[in-house]
Amino acid sequence: MDLRDHIRGIPDFPKPGILFYDISTLLRHGPAWRAAMARLAGLIGPYRPQLLAGIESRGFLVAAPLALELGLGFIMLRKPRKLPGATIGLDYALEYGSDRIEIQADAVVPGQRVVLLDDLLATGGTMAAGVKLLRQAGAVVPATAAMIELTFLGGRSRLDVPCETLLRYD
Ligand code: 5GP
Repeated sequence: MDLRDHIRGIPDFPKPGILFYDISTLLRHGPAWRAAMARLAGLIGPYRPQLLAGIESRGFLVAAPLALELGLGFIMLRKPRKLPGATIGLDYALEYGSDRIEIQADAVVPGQRVVLLDDLLATGGTMAAGVKLLRQAGAVVPATAAMIELTFLGGRSRLDVPCETLLRYD
């Protein structure tokens, strides 16, 4: 199955000049979603993760089914003030402005191997921030992964761990 057939590019979203890669069409198609998860499971298995982490919100749609597939636990990196109890947060720069992600302070047992997932790697800022936050929470992060990579934005150069991706657009 060619997963590319299930991703559509939507021009001028969320603002003029941006071509947005929409994964809704893949999620809507059961066999395509399942095939994407099976392929990602094969790519991240060798990193021997003990937990999978997803970045809100589309990262949850990748990390949670993969965790089930691999029989692993799943943890959430969320937007500010969404998680109950004690949290650790990290502010990171965007092209315009900044953003913040948080994790529950006790989400990771120190030294646990956590692979971080998102739907798409663009400039890499979000993934790099996620890796940093997981480390602050005590995780060892052997790798990251995403369904889609926009190679022309060079996101993987901002990461100090491998990033496994299924589909590359350049
Ligand atoms: P980055 O921080 O790498 O520049 O942007 C990646 C983040 O923005 C990811 O969390 C991803 O969900 C979102 N994102 C940026 N561009 C796109 C896109 O074209 N399609 C989708 N589905 N998400 C995108």
